[in-house]
Amino acid sequence: MNKSKVLLIAVIAALVAAFFVFDLGRFLTLDFFRSQQLEIMSYYHARPLQAAAIFFAVYVAVTGLSLPGAAIMTLIAGAIFGLLWGTVIVSFAASIGATLAFLASRLLFREAIQKRFGENLKAINAGVEKDGSFYLFTLRLVPAFPFFMINLVMGLTPIRTWSFYWVSQVGMLAGTLVYVNAGTQIAKIESLRGILSPELIISFTLLGVFPLIAKWIVNTIKARKVYAKWPRPGRFDRNLVVIGAGSAGLVSAYIAAAVRAKVTLIERHKMGGDCLNTGCVPSKALIRSAKLLAHIKRSREWGIRQASADFDFADVMERVQKVIRTVEPHDSVERYSGLGVECLRGEAKITSPWSVEVKTPEGARTLTTRAIVIAAGARPFVPPIPGIAEVGCLTSDTVWNLRKLPRRLIVLGGGPIGSELTQCFARFGSQVTQVEMLPRILPREDPEISEMVTERFRAEGVNVLVNHKATRFTTENGEKVMIAECEGRQVRVAFDELLCAVGRVANTKGYGLEELGIPVTRQRTVETDGYLATLYPNIYACGDVAGPYQFTHTAGHQAWFAAVNALFGTFKKFKADYSVIPWATFTDPEVARVGLNELEAKEKGIAYEVTTYGIDDLDRAIADGEAHGVVKVLTVPGKDRILGVTIAGEHAGDLIAEYIAAMKHGIGLNKILGTIHIYPTLAEANKFAAGAWKKARVTQEQMRFLAAFHSWRRGAEGPGAMFGTAGGLLGKGTRIVQREHTPHSSHA
Ligand SMILES: Cc1cc2nc3c(=O)[nH]c(=O)nc-3n(C[C@H](O)[C@H](O)[C@H](O)COP(=O)(O)OP(=O)(O)OC[C@H]3O[C@@H](n4cnc5c(N)ncnc54)[C@H](O)[C@@H]3O)c2cc1C
Repeated sequence: MNKSKVLLIAVIAALVAAFFVFDLGRFLTLDFFRSQQLEIMSYYHARPLQAAAIFFAVYVAVTGLSLPGAAIMTLIAGAIFGLLWGTVIVSFAASIGATLAFLASRLLFREAIQKRFGENLKAINAGVEKDGSFYLFTLRLVPAFPFFMINLVMGLTPIRTWSFYWVSQVGMLAGTLVYVNAGTQIAKIESLRGILSPELIISFTLLGVFPLIAKWIVNTIKARKVYAKWPRPGRFDRNLVVIGAGSAGLVSAYIAAAVRAKVTLIERHKMGGDCLNTGCVPSKALIRSAKLLAHIKRSREWGIRQASADFDFADVMERVQKVIRTVEPHDSVERYSGLGVECLRGEAKITSPWSVEVKTPEGARTLTTRAIVIAAGARPFVPPIPGIAEVGCLTSDTVWNLRKLPRRLIVLGGGPIGSELTQCFARFGSQVTQVEMLPRILPREDPEISEMVTERFRAEGVNVLVNHKATRFTTENGEKVMIAECEGRQVRVAFDELLCAVGRVANTKGYGLEELGIPVTRQRTVETDGYLATLYPNIYACGDVAGPYQFTHTAGHQAWFAAVNALFGTFKKFKADYSVIPWATFTDPEVARVGLNELEAKEKGIAYEVTTYGIDDLDRAIADGEAHGVVKVLTVPGKDRILGVTIAGEHAGDLIAEYIAAMKHGIGLNKILGTIHIYPTLAEANKFAAGAWKKARVTQEQMRFLAAFHSWRRGAEGPGAMFGTAGGLLGKGTRIVQREHTPHSSHA
């Protein structure tokens, strides 16, 4: 840091310190003003210009140094200078002070903060880049954030200084007027009757409702801008049109029908979308058959000398289809029609903010609607690797059509979908090579969790190639070959089938987004605000098409917000709540997570303590022959508040439900520890993890004190009486589980 920066920091720090050390804030209170009101007013009447100059300078200093008191000073300005001059003085002083704070922040911290917290500032940076002045204007007009924070944070963004100054002045004007006006009334309060005067009541009511009015103004301006070129129909045929009948679309339509809205659900392919037809349901059905085979292979571990399986892969895949058919009625046209949803089969296209065209086998129709929910889902991404088209590749859309087990299979991708399918095919007997360009599979999980899964995969015969980047596919002597790069080396793997599972891209093309100018994000999902509204306040998006999560349960969760906001948003909107998002990868061992893991906590700079409990110690897991895995809990340092949990092991996806509920409802580890869990169950692992956390927090001093207490008690009452009491309390058949395996707990 150069000298001038150090000097500037020293001066600012000295001034701020002086303010607090000398308690200068006591002069910036209404009480102080009231006590000195007569003197101040007589000085003002004698020397109005000097009084204005002093007030102006103090105001600039307070806002420039981000000291508390600007709001009170604005009221006092009204009391001293009246509505017109009070507003003029405050408007300029506040804008100049704000700009000084902005410049100081920019000069001192911008570079360092953008480097360190760039990720956290993403939303603000994006807002500023896209619509800088309007964004600042809305922040100024709607006082949702303290102004001093806006000054400092804006200094860290790319906005120009002049834009910051004038937009701040214009944006703050309305609020300044309201505050100064309220201040003019303070001067007039001379008695209790003054407090109840209509002017005062109106002024303070204005103060209270101003943020709401300002918000309404901002929203109206925004809406006018986007709707300007679209003619609005006089009336609408429907309240809601939902595009896509996957998890998100079905829930949206269900909610609309439940509240008696007229809703139309449009699906171009199959009701139930990915989850039912090509995602969760078939993959879990396949996993079940694969797991049975894995158990048969391990039969000796359970004391069965010999067990074998005679199977045809085609039958397994037929069972998968049967499972789909069994679940199908839950998502069917019949069920939804019965619930009051109009279901249309066809390709939907948004033709205006209030109309959707549907191309059905019978012809095209246009529906008018008050609101639209886009739930168009995502599709597998196939990377443009040279030769991939020529060798052909399966995806999660097409793999379900296989009836012949591939002898040698390459699975490209180490994420959840790639990993689940890798293990399945290996268990059926394919020679599977899983290729991941990152250093480990399941890269979003903590390294030791990835390691557990990798170890199991390798033990089951999977060739896991991490740090390998597939660069080319080719055919050599009639044999398909993948060429990959690993640390400068070329690796060649021959294969019969290739399955590509490297991610999924949102469906954002071909149904009107481009024509309406609805933007997509860098992740190529439909851009939505916190309420899941797109650029158009009556068009919402949810599920895979909106992201950021790509799960059925998050799609359903978002759908509630999208549907409710679409139908009732004019009166009240609900922000989508992502505070507790769980998920699971159904490999063996299963991996489930809610909230933070260590990787994310470190990335986000969140302090945590970690407690782990090894499931190899759990009675039920031992009895089941599944004594492996871990419960890993992150807590706030010094507290039992849970920041996140990862469970790896048998039924991890079910076990984690207790922690999901705990996090959602603010239940800490002490309460989990105080809850009776049935013996012997896998769920006991949750309690033992809480016990491990507790045990790690008992200090040596506490133990020494307890030992001394009991030794004193033995001297007073004798040990015989103690045993008698304990025997009576425990009763017959009670089992005390002594755990010597102390789960590890460490600080980070
Ligand atoms: C192999 C695999 C396994 C998975 N396992 C799990 C799991 O275990 N747990 C989990 O939570 N998630 C899992 N997922 C993810 C889950 O399937 C998705 O997150 C979920 O299906 C998303 O639902 P959605 O409604 O957003 O989209 P989709 O289910 O994709 O539905 C979108 C629908 O919109 C339709 N559509 C698109 N455009 C139009 C148009 N213009 N007109 C009319 N219709 C249109 C499509 O045809 C589609 O049916 C898995 C995914 C895969 C691929």
